[in-house]
Amino acid sequence: MNSSVLVIEDNPELRRLLNQGLEEEGFSVDLARDGREALMLADPARHDLLIVDIGLPDSDGRDVCQALKSNGMEAPVLFLTARDSGPDRVSGFSVGGDDYLTKPFVFAELVARLRVLERRAGHTDRSVSGDLRLDPVRHVLACGGDRAELTPTEFRLVGAMIARSGEVIRRHEMIAAAWPSGAIVHDNTVDVYIRRLRKKLEELGSESRIHTVHGVGYRLE
Ligand code: CA
Repeated sequence: MNSSVLVIEDNPELRRLLNQGLEEEGFSVDLARDGREALMLADPARHDLLIVDIGLPDSDGRDVCQALKSNGMEAPVLFLTARDSGPDRVSGFSVGGDDYLTKPFVFAELVARLRVLERRAGHTDRSVSGDLRLDPVRHVLACGGDRAELTPTEFRLVGAMIARSGEVIRRHEMIAAAWPSGAIVHDNTVDVYIRRLRKKLEELGSESRIHTVHGVGYRLE
């Protein structure tokens, strides 16, 4: 079963290239030129993936996604951003399950990232990893019948790791996920939080472990 991609991009040349290239890769493709068309075309039952230009003529692509998500769209999003929009403005997108790519990009890289999003969308519940379950209402981490209370920062950190369990999450991605943008976060602050989370996993009797990948980041598995 081929994945169905909705491409929201105002540049006609890029839209044409994406359409042709993605069809050759076996995706089924729908095209929208702006936010208005995207809202008309988007179908949660049909679209598995979204490619969204942030700089649309009638709206910000992020707002379009917000609107689509509030209409029940659960498909992961690959955002396209202009080079000058700055990495910190969009870095948060790479943590919550969505991803972004800076223009100009190599088509093969776009496809590789879409494949990752596609795989990830296969396991739709991003609040479960192994024996761990994150409860966003009570802000607790549960393992079997045991629960550990989490501070808001711990919650966001472990949430980012659970959403991408088995993958290495870089330190800067963890910081983008857990702290307000622009916050100065020292490496040893991250270490302190990781130590606390490890202790909580241990107290819960979880089989899951936070592994250190030296010089890179962490992996929950
Ligand atoms: Ca644009």
